[in-house]
Amino acid sequence: MIPKNHPRYESLILREKIKNAHEEGYLSDSGMIAHGRGEAFDYLLGEKSTEPSEMAVKIGVAKLLLAKNPVISINGNTTALVVDEVIQLAKLIPAKIEINLFYRTEKRVDIIKDIVNKKGYNNVLGTNEDELLYIKDIKSPRATASKNGIFSSDLILVPLEDGDRTEILVDSGKEVIAIDLNPLSRTSKKANITIVDNITRAIPLMIETTKKFKDYNEEKLKDIIKDFSNEDNLKESLNCMDLGNM
Ligand code: ATP
Repeated sequence: MIPKNHPRYESLILREKIKNAHEEGYLSDSGMIAHGRGEAFDYLLGEKSTEPSEMAVKIGVAKLLLAKNPVISINGNTTALVVDEVIQLAKLIPAKIEINLFYRTEKRVDIIKDIVNKKGYNNVLGTNEDELLYIKDIKSPRATASKNGIFSSDLILVPLEDGDRTEILVDSGKEVIAIDLNPLSRTSKKANITIVDNITRAIPLMIETTKKFKDYNEEKLKDIIKDFSNEDNLKESLNCMDLGNM
């Protein structure tokens, strides 16, 4: 039991969730390493959302509401930390949910599918029963996608993605919204919109923003998006990690 007054309580709770997911068999070893890397960047951000991340959330939500076939990609880390919130966001937009694992095994996919089903969401894509195709005919496990999901999607929200996969998605003409605590990662640089924040803060903020933007017309949503530069936003996120002021 972690005492509530522990100065690192929130962070330790997240670590516990990641550890449990690994023990339950749906989070890979590298998923734990990815979490550790995220923790380090979150520390530098002061473990709070920043102005640039809040701006990227607004742009991301406007894009999701304008998209024709938006999909939210989930993996072990996302399931462990924010499965309820992802389902809520998917229903609000509405967007599809697709399982996509870096180290895909049938067992991990089945466990994640069960978790999502038990939450009352039964349409998850990317399962072992689903029809998976290769994006741009690239015969790599990083290029598979559900026929009715990511494969035919125009916009994908990828909380925690790897650079190769992001590159494949963007190069195939899809728009990508990434949530990544590391503003220097290949994913952050390749994505069209990068939210440099912890998924545990970014997804709830996206839910609140969706509720606010839901009734905006197309013109108003397009107006929100115009003038956004991901490159500039990433630089601003980096500046929020000003080590000199610590
Ligand atoms: P890339 O190939 O894009 O350069 P990478 O090799 O640095 O990525 P991966 O291990 O593939 O990194 O992906 C993990 C990424 O997810 C890291 O950049 C890490 O900072 C980020 N990350 C980990 N946990 C979280 C979290 N809870 N919220 C947001 N981002 C996270």
